[in-house]
Amino acid sequence: MPIDPPETVYVTEKTVACDGGEGALGHPMVYLNMGEDGRIDCPYCDREFILEGGPADQRVA
Ligand SMILES: [Zn+2]
Repeated sequence: MPIDPPETVYVTEKTVACDGGEGALGHPMVYLNMGEDGRIDCPYCDREFILEGGPADQRVA
């Protein structure tokens, strides 16, 4: 399955750790803290982290 960055990652906590995952997008581990909007972009790999059930979680059930 191809990965088309930026990737959206749904998480269950407002504090997330990102190391870019496997392959070319890998980067040093960084910790990101979401604000009240429940989402944050990783400044290294542009992944978007969204809090499950949070205000930025707009998935259709
Ligand atoms: Zn990252």
